[in-house]
Amino acid sequence: MRRMDQITHWIDGKPWVGDAERRGKVFNPATGEQSGEVDFATVDEVDAAVAAARRAFDSWRAVSLAKRTNALFSLRSLLADHVDDLARIVSAEHGKVQADAAGEVARGLEVIEFACGITQLLKGEFTEGASTGVNVHSLRQPLGVVAGITPFNFPAMVPLWMFPLAIACGNTFVLKPSEKDPSASQFLAELVAEAGFPNGVFNVVHGDKVAVDRILSHPDIAAVSFVGSTPVARHIYEAAAQNGKRVQALGGAKNHLVVLPDADMTEAAEAAVSAGFGSAGERCMAASVLVAVGGCGDQLVEGIRRRVDRLAVGPGDDPESEMGPLITLEHRDRVASYLDIGAGEGANVVIDGRQHPNNGEEGGYWLGPCLIDGVSPGMQVYRDEIFGPVLSVVRVDSLDDALELIRTNGYGNGAAIFTSDGGAAQRFESEVEAGMVGINVAIPVPVSYYSFGGWQGSLFGDLHVYGPDGVRFYTRGKAVTSRWSHIGEHHKSLAFPNAAASENR
Ligand code: NAD
Repeated sequence: MRRMDQITHWIDGKPWVGDAERRGKVFNPATGEQSGEVDFATVDEVDAAVAAARRAFDSWRAVSLAKRTNALFSLRSLLADHVDDLARIVSAEHGKVQADAAGEVARGLEVIEFACGITQLLKGEFTEGASTGVNVHSLRQPLGVVAGITPFNFPAMVPLWMFPLAIACGNTFVLKPSEKDPSASQFLAELVAEAGFPNGVFNVVHGDKVAVDRILSHPDIAAVSFVGSTPVARHIYEAAAQNGKRVQALGGAKNHLVVLPDADMTEAAEAAVSAGFGSAGERCMAASVLVAVGGCGDQLVEGIRRRVDRLAVGPGDDPESEMGPLITLEHRDRVASYLDIGAGEGANVVIDGRQHPNNGEEGGYWLGPCLIDGVSPGMQVYRDEIFGPVLSVVRVDSLDDALELIRTNGYGNGAAIFTSDGGAAQRFESEVEAGMVGINVAIPVPVSYYSFGGWQGSLFGDLHVYGPDGVRFYTRGKAVTSRWSHIGEHHKSLAFPNAAASENR
Protein backbone atom coordinates (compact mmCIF):
# COMPACT_ATOMS: atom_id res chain seq x y z
CA MET A 1 0.00 0.00 0.00
CA ARG A 2 1.10 3.58 -0.75
CA ARG A 3 2.82 5.39 2.12
CA MET A 4 0.45 7.89 3.67
CA ASP A 5 1.62 11.50 3.71
CA GLN A 6 1.99 13.03 7.17
CA ILE A 7 1.43 16.74 6.98
CA THR A 8 2.33 18.96 9.88
CA HIS A 9 2.81 22.61 10.82
CA TRP A 10 5.77 24.72 9.76
CA ILE A 11 6.93 26.86 12.65
CA ASP A 12 10.10 28.93 12.95
CA GLY A 13 11.66 27.61 9.77
CA LYS A 14 11.09 23.90 10.31
CA PRO A 15 8.41 21.22 10.53
CA TRP A 16 6.71 21.01 13.92
CA VAL A 17 7.74 18.05 16.03
CA GLY A 18 5.04 16.94 18.39
CA ASP A 19 2.14 14.63 18.89
CA ALA A 20 -1.04 16.16 17.51
CA GLU A 21 -4.16 15.88 19.67
CA ARG A 22 -6.35 15.86 16.58
CA ARG A 23 -5.76 15.06 12.92
CA GLY A 24 -7.76 15.28 9.70
CA LYS A 25 -7.85 12.93 6.75
CA VAL A 26 -6.74 14.02 3.30
CA PHE A 27 -8.16 12.22 0.25
CA ASN A 28 -7.37 11.77 -3.40
CA PRO A 29 -10.69 12.93 -4.91
CA ALA A 30 -10.04 10.96 -8.11
CA THR A 31 -10.03 7.62 -6.26
CA GLY A 32 -11.69 8.36 -2.94
CA GLU A 33 -8.67 6.84 -1.17
CA GLN A 34 -7.11 8.48 1.84
CA SER A 35 -3.72 9.86 0.78
CA GLY A 36 -2.60 11.61 3.91
CA GLU A 37 -3.22 12.81 7.42
CA VAL A 38 -2.84 16.38 8.58
CA ASP A 39 -2.17 17.59 12.13
CA PHE A 40 -4.76 19.98 13.51
CA ALA A 41 -3.34 22.83 15.58
CA THR A 42 -4.48 23.45 19.12
CA VAL A 43 -4.31 26.91 20.71
CA ASP A 44 -0.76 26.07 21.86
CA GLU A 45 0.50 25.35 18.35
CA VAL A 46 -1.04 28.53 16.97
CA ASP A 47 0.55 30.43 19.85
CA ALA A 48 3.94 28.86 19.03
CA ALA A 49 3.65 29.95 15.38
CA VAL A 50 2.61 33.48 16.34
CA ALA A 51 5.45 33.68 18.89
CA ALA A 52 7.96 32.64 16.19
CA ALA A 53 6.52 35.25 13.83
CA ARG A 54 6.58 37.90 16.58
CA ARG A 55 10.23 37.14 17.40
CA ALA A 56 11.17 37.36 13.73
CA PHE A 57 9.31 40.62 13.14
CA ASP A 58 11.65 43.13 14.81
CA SER A 59 14.67 42.03 12.83
CA TRP A 60 12.78 41.29 9.60
CA ARG A 61 11.22 44.75 9.42
CA ALA A 62 14.74 46.21 9.75
CA VAL A 63 16.17 44.11 6.91
CA SER A 64 16.97 46.40 3.98
CA LEU A 65 14.67 46.46 1.00
CA ALA A 66 17.61 45.33 -1.13
CA LYS A 67 17.97 42.13 0.93
CA ARG A 68 14.22 41.52 1.08
CA THR A 69 14.07 41.88 -2.69
CA ASN A 70 16.93 39.41 -3.12
CA ALA A 71 15.05 36.81 -1.11
CA LEU A 72 11.88 37.46 -3.13
CA PHE A 73 13.79 37.01 -6.41
CA SER A 74 15.16 33.69 -5.07
CA LEU A 75 11.66 32.57 -4.15
CA ARG A 76 10.42 33.57 -7.59
CA SER A 77 13.13 31.56 -9.27
CA LEU A 78 12.67 28.49 -7.04
CA LEU A 79 8.93 28.44 -7.59
CA ALA A 80 9.35 28.94 -11.35
CA ASP A 81 11.58 25.83 -11.33
CA HIS A 82 8.97 23.84 -9.40
CA VAL A 83 5.69 24.83 -11.09
CA ASP A 84 5.04 21.27 -12.23
CA ASP A 85 5.94 19.75 -8.84
CA LEU A 86 3.55 22.06 -7.04
CA ALA A 87 0.89 21.52 -9.71
CA ARG A 88 1.13 17.75 -9.12
CA ILE A 89 0.66 18.25 -5.37
CA VAL A 90 -2.35 20.51 -5.95
CA SER A 91 -3.90 18.13 -8.45
CA ALA A 92 -3.45 15.08 -6.20
CA GLU A 93 -5.30 16.60 -3.22
CA HIS A 94 -7.70 18.98 -4.95
CA GLY A 95 -8.50 16.91 -8.05
CA LYS A 96 -8.18 19.66 -10.66
CA VAL A 97 -6.35 18.70 -13.85
CA GLN A 98 -2.62 19.40 -13.90
CA ALA A 99 -2.71 22.07 -16.62
CA ASP A 100 -5.25 23.96 -14.53
CA ALA A 101 -3.15 23.48 -11.38
CA ALA A 102 -0.08 24.79 -13.25
CA GLY A 103 -2.17 27.80 -14.25
CA GLU A 104 -3.00 28.55 -10.62
CA VAL A 105 0.68 28.31 -9.65
CA ALA A 106 1.56 30.67 -12.51
CA ARG A 107 -0.97 33.22 -11.25
CA GLY A 108 0.54 32.95 -7.77
CA LEU A 109 4.00 33.39 -9.21
CA GLU A 110 2.85 36.68 -10.74
CA VAL A 111 2.18 38.00 -7.25
CA ILE A 112 5.74 37.16 -6.17
CA GLU A 113 6.93 39.03 -9.26
CA PHE A 114 4.84 42.03 -8.24
CA ALA A 115 6.28 41.81 -4.71
CA CYS A 116 9.80 41.82 -6.19
CA GLY A 117 9.11 45.47 -7.02
CA ILE A 118 8.61 46.32 -3.34
CA THR A 119 11.30 49.03 -3.46
CA GLN A 120 9.10 50.99 -5.82
CA LEU A 121 5.83 50.07 -4.08
CA LEU A 122 6.91 51.30 -0.64
CA LYS A 123 8.20 54.66 -1.82
CA GLY A 124 6.75 57.52 0.16
CA GLU A 125 5.97 61.07 -0.92
CA PHE A 126 7.97 64.19 -0.11
CA THR A 127 7.02 67.85 -0.07
CA GLU A 128 9.76 70.40 0.31
CA GLY A 129 8.79 73.76 1.82
CA ALA A 130 5.23 73.04 2.93
CA SER A 131 5.79 76.04 5.15
CA THR A 132 8.93 78.11 5.72
CA GLY A 133 11.65 75.62 6.58
CA VAL A 134 9.10 72.83 6.88
CA ASN A 135 9.18 69.62 4.85
CA VAL A 136 6.62 66.81 4.91
CA HIS A 137 7.08 63.19 3.89
CA SER A 138 5.16 59.95 4.17
CA LEU A 139 6.18 56.43 5.15
CA ARG A 140 4.45 53.08 4.83
CA GLN A 141 5.39 50.68 7.61
CA PRO A 142 4.58 47.03 8.31
CA LEU A 143 1.84 46.02 10.74
CA GLY A 144 3.60 43.17 12.59
CA VAL A 145 2.38 39.56 12.51
CA VAL A 146 -0.36 39.03 9.96
CA ALA A 147 -2.40 35.90 9.28
CA GLY A 148 -3.96 34.35 6.19
CA ILE A 149 -6.82 31.85 6.21
CA THR A 150 -7.38 30.21 2.84
CA PRO A 151 -9.91 27.95 1.03
CA PHE A 152 -9.54 24.53 -0.57
CA ASN A 153 -10.13 25.56 -4.17
CA PHE A 154 -6.81 27.34 -4.83
CA PRO A 155 -4.39 25.75 -2.34
CA ALA A 156 -1.35 27.37 -3.98
CA MET A 157 -2.63 30.57 -5.57
CA VAL A 158 -4.63 32.06 -2.70
CA PRO A 159 -1.80 31.75 -0.12
CA LEU A 160 0.44 33.31 -2.79
CA TRP A 161 -2.05 36.19 -3.14
CA MET A 162 -1.21 37.05 0.44
CA PHE A 163 2.12 36.13 1.98
CA PRO A 164 4.70 37.31 -0.62
CA LEU A 165 3.40 40.85 -0.47
CA ALA A 166 2.87 40.77 3.30
CA ILE A 167 6.47 39.72 3.96
CA ALA A 168 7.83 42.02 1.24
CA CYS A 169 6.25 44.87 3.23
CA GLY A 170 8.20 43.77 6.32
CA ASN A 171 5.51 41.78 8.15
CA THR A 172 5.83 38.20 9.31
CA PHE A 173 3.13 35.71 8.41
CA VAL A 174 1.07 32.82 9.81
CA LEU A 175 -0.91 30.86 7.21
CA LYS A 176 -3.85 28.58 8.04
CA PRO A 177 -4.61 26.77 4.77
CA SER A 178 -7.59 24.55 4.03
CA GLU A 179 -7.43 21.23 5.87
CA LYS A 180 -8.73 19.50 2.71
CA ASP A 181 -5.59 20.04 0.61
CA PRO A 182 -2.82 21.16 2.98
CA SER A 183 0.31 19.87 1.21
CA ALA A 184 0.74 22.80 -1.20
CA SER A 185 1.42 25.21 1.66
CA GLN A 186 3.94 22.79 3.13
CA PHE A 187 5.79 22.80 -0.17
CA LEU A 188 5.65 26.60 -0.30
CA ALA A 189 7.06 26.83 3.24
CA GLU A 190 10.04 24.71 2.20
CA LEU A 191 10.69 26.98 -0.79
CA VAL A 192 10.45 30.10 1.40
CA ALA A 193 13.11 28.64 3.71
CA GLU A 194 15.32 27.64 0.77
CA ALA A 195 15.00 31.15 -0.67
CA GLY A 196 16.74 32.49 2.42
CA PHE A 197 13.95 34.14 4.40
CA PRO A 198 14.86 34.05 8.10
CA ASN A 199 13.15 31.54 10.39
CA GLY A 200 9.78 32.71 11.65
CA VAL A 201 9.05 35.07 8.76
CA PHE A 202 6.63 32.53 7.24
CA ASN A 203 4.79 29.92 9.31
CA VAL A 204 1.99 27.46 8.57
CA VAL A 205 -0.51 26.04 11.02
CA HIS A 206 -2.99 23.43 9.84
CA GLY A 207 -6.39 22.78 11.27
CA ASP A 208 -9.97 23.87 11.54
CA LYS A 209 -12.11 26.30 13.53
CA VAL A 210 -9.99 25.82 16.67
CA ALA A 211 -6.93 27.25 14.90
CA VAL A 212 -8.97 29.96 13.17
CA ASP A 213 -10.62 31.10 16.41
CA ARG A 214 -7.22 31.42 18.08
CA ILE A 215 -5.93 33.48 15.15
CA LEU A 216 -8.95 35.76 15.50
CA SER A 217 -8.39 36.34 19.20
CA HIS A 218 -4.58 36.34 19.41
CA PRO A 219 -3.42 39.75 20.67
CA ASP A 220 -0.18 39.63 18.65
CA ILE A 221 -1.89 39.24 15.28
CA ALA A 222 -2.39 42.66 13.71
CA ALA A 223 -4.31 41.77 10.57
CA VAL A 224 -6.19 38.89 8.96
CA SER A 225 -6.67 38.15 5.25
CA PHE A 226 -9.40 35.59 4.61
CA VAL A 227 -10.69 33.92 1.46
CA GLY A 228 -13.54 31.41 1.63
CA SER A 229 -17.32 31.13 1.74
CA THR A 230 -19.55 34.09 2.57
CA PRO A 231 -20.91 32.92 5.96
CA VAL A 232 -17.38 32.23 7.25
CA ALA A 233 -16.07 35.47 5.68
CA ARG A 234 -18.73 37.47 7.53
CA HIS A 235 -17.85 35.73 10.82
CA ILE A 236 -14.11 36.35 10.30
CA TYR A 237 -14.71 40.00 9.47
CA GLU A 238 -16.87 40.61 12.54
CA ALA A 239 -14.75 38.64 15.02
CA ALA A 240 -11.39 40.00 13.82
CA ALA A 241 -12.65 43.58 13.75
CA GLN A 242 -14.13 43.20 17.21
CA ASN A 243 -10.67 42.15 18.41
CA GLY A 244 -9.14 45.29 16.91
CA LYS A 245 -7.55 43.68 13.86
CA ARG A 246 -7.40 44.99 10.34
CA VAL A 247 -9.32 42.53 8.18
CA GLN A 248 -10.14 41.76 4.57
CA ALA A 249 -12.51 38.82 4.11
CA LEU A 250 -13.33 37.65 0.60
CA GLY A 251 -16.45 35.50 0.34
CA GLY A 252 -18.38 33.38 -2.14
CA ALA A 253 -19.83 34.29 -5.49
CA LYS A 254 -22.52 33.82 -8.08
CA ASN A 255 -20.94 35.11 -11.26
CA HIS A 256 -23.09 36.07 -14.24
CA LEU A 257 -21.95 35.73 -17.83
CA VAL A 258 -24.22 37.93 -19.95
CA VAL A 259 -24.53 37.21 -23.65
CA LEU A 260 -26.09 39.80 -25.97
CA PRO A 261 -27.67 38.62 -29.25
CA ASP A 262 -24.94 40.35 -31.30
CA ALA A 263 -22.16 38.20 -29.76
CA ASP A 264 -20.48 35.34 -31.60
CA MET A 265 -22.62 32.49 -30.23
CA THR A 266 -20.03 29.74 -30.72
CA GLU A 267 -17.41 31.71 -28.84
CA ALA A 268 -19.86 32.64 -26.09
CA ALA A 269 -20.97 29.02 -25.64
CA GLU A 270 -17.36 27.81 -25.45
CA ALA A 271 -16.51 30.56 -22.98
CA ALA A 272 -19.49 29.50 -20.83
CA VAL A 273 -18.27 25.89 -20.84
CA SER A 274 -14.72 26.85 -19.97
CA ALA A 275 -15.73 29.32 -17.23
CA GLY A 276 -18.58 27.16 -15.91
CA PHE A 277 -16.93 23.75 -15.82
CA GLY A 278 -13.18 24.44 -15.58
CA SER A 279 -11.87 23.15 -12.24
CA ALA A 280 -15.28 21.43 -11.92
CA GLY A 281 -16.86 24.81 -11.22
CA GLU A 282 -14.95 25.08 -7.95
CA ARG A 283 -13.66 28.58 -8.66
CA CYS A 284 -14.83 31.75 -7.01
CA MET A 285 -14.72 33.33 -10.48
CA ALA A 286 -16.52 30.44 -12.21
CA ALA A 287 -19.48 31.46 -14.36
CA SER A 288 -22.48 29.93 -12.64
CA VAL A 289 -25.28 31.90 -14.32
CA LEU A 290 -25.48 32.32 -18.08
CA VAL A 291 -27.76 35.26 -18.84
CA ALA A 292 -29.10 34.91 -22.38
CA VAL A 293 -30.42 38.27 -23.54
CA GLY A 294 -33.02 38.84 -26.26
CA GLY A 295 -33.75 35.32 -27.41
CA CYS A 296 -30.22 33.90 -27.84
CA GLY A 297 -30.83 31.15 -25.22
CA ASP A 298 -31.54 28.28 -27.62
CA GLN A 299 -28.38 28.85 -29.64
CA LEU A 300 -26.27 29.01 -26.48
CA VAL A 301 -27.77 25.85 -25.00
CA GLU A 302 -27.14 24.02 -28.26
CA GLY A 303 -23.54 25.28 -28.43
CA ILE A 304 -22.90 24.20 -24.84
CA ARG A 305 -24.38 20.78 -25.46
CA ARG A 306 -22.11 20.25 -28.47
CA ARG A 307 -18.99 21.22 -26.49
CA VAL A 308 -19.93 19.18 -23.42
CA ASP A 309 -20.39 16.08 -25.60
CA ARG A 310 -16.64 16.06 -26.23
CA LEU A 311 -15.55 17.26 -22.80
CA ALA A 312 -13.25 14.72 -21.14
CA VAL A 313 -13.86 14.16 -17.43
CA GLY A 314 -11.13 12.21 -15.65
CA PRO A 315 -8.30 12.18 -13.15
CA GLY A 316 -6.09 15.25 -12.91
CA ASP A 317 -2.92 13.34 -13.75
CA ASP A 318 -4.33 12.14 -17.09
CA PRO A 319 -3.23 14.69 -19.72
CA GLU A 320 -6.42 13.98 -21.69
CA SER A 321 -8.68 15.12 -18.82
CA GLU A 322 -10.23 18.56 -19.07
CA MET A 323 -12.19 18.42 -15.81
CA GLY A 324 -11.48 16.47 -12.64
CA PRO A 325 -13.57 15.29 -9.69
CA LEU A 326 -15.05 17.41 -6.88
CA ILE A 327 -13.26 17.94 -3.60
CA THR A 328 -15.19 15.56 -1.28
CA LEU A 329 -17.95 12.99 -1.49
CA GLU A 330 -20.30 15.18 0.59
CA HIS A 331 -19.67 18.16 -1.65
CA ARG A 332 -20.26 16.08 -4.80
CA ASP A 333 -23.58 14.86 -3.36
CA ARG A 334 -24.60 18.37 -2.31
CA VAL A 335 -23.81 19.78 -5.76
CA ALA A 336 -25.66 16.92 -7.49
CA SER A 337 -28.70 17.48 -5.27
CA TYR A 338 -29.27 20.82 -7.01
CA LEU A 339 -30.30 18.94 -10.16
CA ASP A 340 -33.33 17.53 -8.34
CA ILE A 341 -33.93 20.80 -6.53
CA GLY A 342 -33.91 22.69 -9.87
CA ALA A 343 -36.23 20.16 -11.52
CA GLY A 344 -38.55 20.38 -8.52
CA GLU A 345 -38.66 24.15 -8.87
CA GLY A 346 -39.76 23.86 -12.50
CA ALA A 347 -36.39 24.40 -14.23
CA ASN A 348 -35.29 22.16 -17.09
CA VAL A 349 -32.25 19.93 -16.52
CA VAL A 350 -30.80 19.87 -20.04
CA ILE A 351 -27.52 18.13 -19.18
CA ASP A 352 -27.43 15.83 -16.16
CA GLY A 353 -23.80 15.41 -15.06
CA ARG A 354 -24.66 12.27 -13.12
CA GLN A 355 -24.89 10.52 -16.49
CA HIS A 356 -21.74 11.95 -18.01
CA PRO A 357 -19.11 9.31 -18.81
CA ASN A 358 -15.87 9.67 -16.89
CA ASN A 359 -12.73 7.62 -16.97
CA GLY A 360 -12.16 7.89 -13.24
CA GLU A 361 -12.24 5.22 -10.60
CA GLU A 362 -15.43 4.04 -8.96
CA GLY A 363 -14.69 5.63 -5.60
CA GLY A 364 -13.84 9.07 -7.01
CA TYR A 365 -16.07 12.07 -6.42
CA TRP A 366 -17.29 12.42 -9.99
CA LEU A 367 -19.95 14.64 -11.47
CA GLY A 368 -19.98 15.71 -15.11
CA PRO A 369 -20.99 19.14 -16.42
CA CYS A 370 -24.62 20.05 -15.68
CA LEU A 371 -26.81 22.58 -17.48
CA ILE A 372 -30.11 23.80 -16.06
CA ASP A 373 -32.24 25.94 -18.38
CA GLY A 374 -35.32 28.03 -17.56
CA VAL A 375 -33.93 29.17 -14.20
CA SER A 376 -35.51 32.23 -12.61
CA PRO A 377 -34.26 34.49 -9.79
CA GLY A 378 -36.68 33.13 -7.17
CA MET A 379 -35.30 29.58 -7.42
CA GLN A 380 -32.89 28.07 -4.92
CA VAL A 381 -30.62 26.89 -7.78
CA TYR A 382 -30.26 30.56 -8.70
CA ARG A 383 -29.83 31.98 -5.19
CA ASP A 384 -27.34 29.50 -3.68
CA GLU A 385 -23.65 29.35 -4.46
CA ILE A 386 -23.51 25.73 -5.69
CA PHE A 387 -19.73 25.67 -6.25
CA GLY A 388 -19.68 22.81 -8.71
CA PRO A 389 -20.08 22.13 -12.44
CA VAL A 390 -23.66 23.39 -12.61
CA LEU A 391 -24.46 26.20 -15.01
CA SER A 392 -27.89 27.85 -14.84
CA VAL A 393 -29.40 29.60 -17.83
CA VAL A 394 -31.59 32.63 -17.12
CA ARG A 395 -33.31 34.16 -20.15
CA VAL A 396 -34.05 37.89 -20.07
CA ASP A 397 -35.27 40.48 -22.57
CA SER A 398 -32.72 43.26 -22.25
CA LEU A 399 -29.37 44.45 -20.93
CA ASP A 400 -31.34 46.40 -18.30
CA ASP A 401 -32.82 43.13 -17.03
CA ALA A 402 -29.37 41.54 -16.92
CA LEU A 403 -27.91 44.44 -14.94
CA GLU A 404 -30.82 44.33 -12.50
CA LEU A 405 -30.35 40.58 -12.02
CA ILE A 406 -26.70 41.10 -11.11
CA ARG A 407 -27.45 44.09 -8.88
CA THR A 408 -29.96 42.18 -6.78
CA ASN A 409 -28.39 38.71 -6.45
CA GLY A 410 -26.48 39.43 -3.25
CA TYR A 411 -22.97 38.65 -4.50
CA GLY A 412 -20.71 40.81 -6.65
CA ASN A 413 -17.44 39.05 -7.38
CA GLY A 414 -17.11 38.83 -11.17
CA ALA A 415 -19.43 39.63 -14.07
CA ALA A 416 -18.79 39.26 -17.78
CA ILE A 417 -20.46 40.35 -21.00
CA PHE A 418 -20.06 38.88 -24.48
CA THR A 419 -21.03 41.32 -27.21
CA SER A 420 -19.80 43.04 -30.35
CA ASP A 421 -21.45 46.32 -29.34
CA GLY A 422 -18.89 48.67 -27.78
CA GLY A 423 -21.58 50.96 -26.41
CA ALA A 424 -23.32 48.12 -24.58
CA ALA A 425 -19.98 46.92 -23.21
CA GLN A 426 -19.15 50.40 -22.00
CA ARG A 427 -22.51 50.71 -20.29
CA PHE A 428 -22.08 47.27 -18.67
CA GLU A 429 -18.62 48.17 -17.38
CA SER A 430 -19.93 51.38 -15.87
CA GLU A 431 -23.16 50.15 -14.32
CA VAL A 432 -22.61 46.53 -13.31
CA GLU A 433 -22.46 45.88 -9.54
CA ALA A 434 -19.39 43.67 -9.37
CA GLY A 435 -15.76 44.17 -8.42
CA MET A 436 -14.23 42.43 -11.45
CA VAL A 437 -15.62 42.81 -14.95
CA GLY A 438 -14.90 40.92 -18.16
CA ILE A 439 -15.67 42.17 -21.65
CA ASN A 440 -15.49 39.18 -23.97
CA VAL A 441 -13.35 37.65 -21.16
CA ALA A 442 -15.22 35.02 -19.17
CA ILE A 443 -12.97 34.80 -16.08
CA PRO A 444 -11.76 38.34 -15.41
CA VAL A 445 -9.22 37.65 -12.65
CA PRO A 446 -7.10 40.82 -12.55
CA VAL A 447 -3.35 40.56 -13.20
CA SER A 448 -1.14 40.88 -10.14
CA TYR A 449 -0.52 44.63 -10.49
CA TYR A 450 -4.25 45.33 -10.13
CA SER A 451 -6.14 44.03 -7.10
CA PHE A 452 -8.64 41.19 -6.69
CA GLY A 453 -11.91 41.63 -4.86
CA GLY A 454 -15.67 41.62 -5.19
CA TRP A 455 -18.57 43.74 -4.00
CA GLN A 456 -21.61 43.07 -1.83
CA GLY A 457 -21.57 39.61 -0.16
CA SER A 458 -18.31 38.71 -1.93
CA LEU A 459 -16.12 40.99 0.19
CA PHE A 460 -16.21 42.17 3.79
CA GLY A 461 -13.69 44.95 4.31
CA ASP A 462 -12.37 47.87 2.33
CA LEU A 463 -9.28 46.73 0.52
CA HIS A 464 -8.99 44.09 -2.17
CA VAL A 465 -6.27 41.46 -2.10
CA TYR A 466 -2.80 41.68 -3.80
CA GLY A 467 -1.73 44.51 -6.16
CA PRO A 468 -1.74 48.10 -4.87
CA ASP A 469 -4.54 47.35 -2.36
CA GLY A 470 -2.43 44.50 -0.97
CA VAL A 471 0.41 46.93 -0.22
CA ARG A 472 -2.04 49.29 1.50
CA PHE A 473 -3.56 46.45 3.49
CA TYR A 474 -0.22 45.17 4.78
CA THR A 475 1.18 48.59 5.74
CA ARG A 476 0.26 51.60 7.90
CA GLY A 477 0.78 55.13 6.69
CA LYS A 478 2.74 57.73 8.62
CA ALA A 479 3.16 61.43 7.75
CA VAL A 480 6.23 63.23 9.08
CA THR A 481 6.43 67.02 9.34
CA SER A 482 9.97 68.27 10.01
CA ARG A 483 11.85 71.50 10.47
CA TRP A 484 15.62 71.94 10.70
CA SER A 485 15.88 75.76 10.65
CA HIS A 486 14.19 78.63 12.57
CA ILE A 487 13.07 76.01 15.09
CA GLY A 488 12.51 78.27 18.08
CA GLU A 489 10.74 81.11 16.24
CA HIS A 490 7.71 79.10 15.47
CA HIS A 491 6.82 78.01 18.95
CA LYS A 492 6.14 81.48 20.40
CA SER A 493 2.42 81.50 19.58
CA LEU A 494 -0.19 79.09 20.97
CA ALA A 495 -2.29 79.33 17.79
CA PHE A 496 -2.91 76.16 15.81
CA PRO A 497 0.03 75.76 13.39
CA ASN A 498 -0.82 76.69 9.78
CA ALA A 499 1.20 77.57 6.75
CA ALA A 500 -0.22 81.10 6.26
CA ALA A 501 0.59 82.19 9.82
CA SER A 502 4.05 80.76 9.44
CA GLU A 503 4.62 82.69 6.18
CA ASN A 504 3.66 86.01 7.89
CA ARG A 505 6.28 85.72 10.55
P1 NAD B 1 -14.72 27.72 3.70
O1 NAD B 1 -15.32 29.04 4.03
O2 NAD B 1 -15.44 26.49 4.13
O3 NAD B 1 -13.25 27.59 4.33
C1 NAD B 1 -12.28 28.59 4.16
C2 NAD B 1 -11.31 28.55 5.35
O4 NAD B 1 -12.01 28.82 6.55
C3 NAD B 1 -10.63 27.19 5.53
O5 NAD B 1 -9.30 27.41 5.91
C4 NAD B 1 -11.43 26.54 6.65
O6 NAD B 1 -10.66 25.67 7.44
C5 NAD B 1 -11.90 27.74 7.48
N1 NAD B 1 -13.23 27.54 8.09
C6 NAD B 1 -14.26 26.83 7.58
N2 NAD B 1 -15.33 26.90 8.42
C7 NAD B 1 -14.97 27.68 9.46
C8 NAD B 1 -15.63 28.14 10.63
N3 NAD B 1 -16.88 27.82 10.88
N4 NAD B 1 -14.95 28.93 11.48
C9 NAD B 1 -13.67 29.28 11.22
N5 NAD B 1 -13.00 28.86 10.13
C10 NAD B 1 -13.62 28.08 9.25
O7 NAD B 1 -14.46 27.72 2.12
P2 NAD B 1 -13.98 26.50 1.22
O8 NAD B 1 -15.08 25.52 1.10
O9 NAD B 1 -12.64 26.02 1.64
O10 NAD B 1 -13.77 27.27 -0.17
C11 NAD B 1 -14.79 27.51 -1.08
C12 NAD B 1 -15.41 28.87 -0.86
O11 NAD B 1 -14.42 29.89 -0.98
C13 NAD B 1 -16.45 29.22 -1.92
O12 NAD B 1 -17.52 29.86 -1.28
C14 NAD B 1 -15.72 30.17 -2.84
O13 NAD B 1 -16.55 31.06 -3.57
C15 NAD B 1 -14.87 30.90 -1.88
N6 NAD B 1 -13.73 31.53 -2.53
C16 NAD B 1 -13.77 32.87 -2.69
C17 NAD B 1 -12.74 33.50 -3.33
C18 NAD B 1 -12.74 34.98 -3.53
O14 NAD B 1 -11.73 35.49 -3.96
N7 NAD B 1 -13.80 35.69 -3.23
C19 NAD B 1 -11.64 32.75 -3.80
C20 NAD B 1 -11.64 31.38 -3.60
C21 NAD B 1 -12.70 30.77 -2.95
